[in-house]
Amino acid sequence: MPDPADLAEGFGQLVLDCALTQLRAVPKLPASNGNCLNACGEKIAYDQHFCCSECRDDFERIQAAKRRNGVL
Ligand SMILES: [Zn+2]
Repeated sequence: MPDPADLAEGFGQLVLDCALTQLRAVPKLPASNGNCLNACGEKIAYDQHFCCSECRDDFERIQAAKRRNGVL
């Protein structure tokens, strides 16, 4: 018969694995087209996605909200 403490530990590991999987499941950003992905109108370099950290934060917040609402 398994030790209840072992079971509890296994469950904790499962939750941790799940959380890590979610962390890794960050969606890929679309390729840059020379404009800030937050559609603020700023021109950016092609190897960048956002003109500033505020736009990146905004964009991520909107994406997260869309995922929550099942839009994405
Ligand atoms: Zn921007």
